[in-house]
Amino acid sequence: MAVRNFWKAATAAGDDLTSDGLRFTVLDDFEHTGLAWIWSSDADGSLNYLSPGAAEVLDLPLPTLLGKPLATLFETDPDDPENRSGRPLGFQLKAHNRIADVTVRCALPEARTGRPVWLSLSGHPKVDSTGKFHGYRGWAKDISVEYQRKIEDSRLAEFDSLTGLYNRHRMARRLEGMLAAFKAAKRSCALMMLDLDRFKQVNDTMGHQAGDELLRQVAERLRNIIGDRGEIGRLGGDEFQVIIPDVDDRGKLGELADKVIQIVSQPYPIDDKRAIIGTSVGIAIAPYDGMETEELVRASDLALYSAKNGGRGQFRFYSADLKDEEEERQLLLDDLREALAADELQLHYQPVVRIKDNHVVGLEALMRWEHEERGWVPPGTFISAAEESSLIGPLGDWALQRACADATTWPESVRVAVNVSARQFTAAGFVDIVADALQSSGLDPDRLELELTESVFMGDSDATDETFRALKKLGVRLALDDFGTGYSSLSYLRSAPFDKLKVDKSFVDSCTQKDQNSAKIITAIIGLSKALGMETTVEGVEAFDQLEVVKSRGAELIQGWLYAKAMPQAHVLQHIQSGEFKIEPSGPDKHRPDRRSMFRRIGIIHGDHRYEAVIRDLSKTGAFIEGLVGVPLGTALVLDLGSGQLVVCQVMRSEGAQIGVEFETHLVNDGAGGLCTRHRVSPYALAAASLPVAAAPGAGPAALSASASAPQFMQVQVGSGG
Ligand code: C2E
Ligand code: MG
Ligand code: MG
Repeated sequence: MAVRNFWKAATAAGDDLTSDGLRFTVLDDFEHTGLAWIWSSDADGSLNYLSPGAAEVLDLPLPTLLGKPLATLFETDPDDPENRSGRPLGFQLKAHNRIADVTVRCALPEARTGRPVWLSLSGHPKVDSTGKFHGYRGWAKDISVEYQRKIEDSRLAEFDSLTGLYNRHRMARRLEGMLAAFKAAKRSCALMMLDLDRFKQVNDTMGHQAGDELLRQVAERLRNIIGDRGEIGRLGGDEFQVIIPDVDDRGKLGELADKVIQIVSQPYPIDDKRAIIGTSVGIAIAPYDGMETEELVRASDLALYSAKNGGRGQFRFYSADLKDEEEERQLLLDDLREALAADELQLHYQPVVRIKDNHVVGLEALMRWEHEERGWVPPGTFISAAEESSLIGPLGDWALQRACADATTWPESVRVAVNVSARQFTAAGFVDIVADALQSSGLDPDRLELELTESVFMGDSDATDETFRALKKLGVRLALDDFGTGYSSLSYLRSAPFDKLKVDKSFVDSCTQKDQNSAKIITAIIGLSKALGMETTVEGVEAFDQLEVVKSRGAELIQGWLYAKAMPQAHVLQHIQSGEFKIEPSGPDKHRPDRRSMFRRIGIIHGDHRYEAVIRDLSKTGAFIEGLVGVPLGTALVLDLGSGQLVVCQVMRSEGAQIGVEFETHLVNDGAGGLCTRHRVSPYALAAASLPVAAAPGAGPAALSASASAPQFMQVQVGSGG
């Protein structure tokens, strides 16, 4: 119907009515609508026709365009989210493929000056009956507006709007793409996972806006550190991720992680306040720790987890033994929750003794947990696990209640000290909980001493000050625990009403060594404390030589094994019943720092034979190894430390079954207090060479399957005892 009307109208207008003529007219009219344009190219690929309207939109004279090869006239957008892996236009044209809705822009430099014009280009090859190609016939459309919007949307979908870093979605896609490409090219790629420590506290105490500002500043610092070495993303919350291509040197990665930790841990100016956070870093490296995205992400997550457990502010490389740590921790928390509910936790009390008359002036409550299978679980383990979860709240409340109640059975002159976690301290209602513990036990508030660590100041907020004020109003005493190990900012001492400083054990450990400054630091802390009208307790005195040093430096109160370890309430009561509560020091004359001997099974490769041996002592530059007899000096050996870690070394000492070796390349810190090789034997190389080592992730040293020749050295069994 429409066609007939059109015909009539055309006839009336007196147009050319031959069928070809009509076709031209129709095409002309169509071109004028601007809905789309038509184009054609010759057999050589050069443009030989283009609707004039198209040239107008491109803002170029038609003659500039005609006669040029299509492939040089138009280009696809490398950022087109739908065309990223697509082949370039020229490639498709050369292959005489049909092209359908390819988004292109004019590639001529003069077209770049105006607003970007995006065309959707389609065309089909014209091939005659003999199969000869005659060029393209096609059409095109201006899609600039739609395309611009699409680019904008995909930008939003790829970026984290708060920090401007890539978002989780984009990072996952990048990693996926990179690993796939790197696998083919046998390249390596490191993945760093970061999680901010104490961010939640800042968010809770300073408000969400401050939290947002903090995240922006963290992102900025990360950008400065990483630069163009890698891609940074924020995965959500306080989680960040960095992809670093072509680096597998654990020395370099460890240094980078250290730098990240140091710089992120510097204070942040927010409004007119200061926020202090930290960060933990987990690192996994492809292909060693995994070749697939999921594997590598999981490996870096586990490494991060372990870094956080290790006390935060640390980095960790993934290693196979981390696999179960996360699960293990969850089980531990479940058990701890049950133990708390079943009243299986205990408080032991460690005496604080006045040196001059050996009188016990206080007792510190220390939590103890005996698990039916695990045995005694160290507080360092279960308390830090509880601090990560919400369990520290009920756990801490229980300790307060119990300690106050127990203390009412002691002489009036003996105080009780209770440790309070930062998370517990900053939780709403903490003051009420303390008041409640005092009230239900009837304990004199002056006999309760709360031990806090500097981490309570990390939020740096008015709320902290308010809590301090309220606690002082209750009449309880406050002690600053582990002094000297944290930030030790003197401003805390000015603003917070502490009654006591506790000198950390680490200073006492080294105070008898001549070259240490520890003794001087102890002197300074005691002096400072006196000047501010506070008491000082020196923690961790184990031997008489230490007692002499700290006494000469002005210490008056001691808490340490030289006097007593923590004991159950029943023992405290026995002491009290026997009259005056006094304890004589007794213990070793001299402090001996614990010698850490190690026992680590390794493989030694010499010639084409593999031996089993044990490392007794390991440093960055060499090792002491037991298990081989008769190895001549100067022999070159390869140590297999497991998981693809091979070390070339030379024998420098040889005595009986013991050899001392020097490494050709030094080891580096593994982030967990141990050492590792910079590089590992790549699974690619292993697959190619079938080396006699275990480089697969998770594997320990493997046995050499078959040795071609007899061993040159005698191997002896080494037990873990000696
Ligand atoms: P802390 O508050 O600094 O407690 C002192 C730690 O040093 C205790 O370890 C104590 O047994 C140990 N110690 C004291 N004198 C000596 C000594 O001469 N030599 C040696 N080697 N160690 C000594 P413990 O009981 O393992 O507790 C570790 C940490 O766990 C405590 O450090 C405290 O931060 C935390 N903790 C313990 N109980 C609680 C609790 O009820 N609540 C909270 N929030 N934390 C607790
Ligand atoms: Mg303490
Ligand atoms: Mg302490």
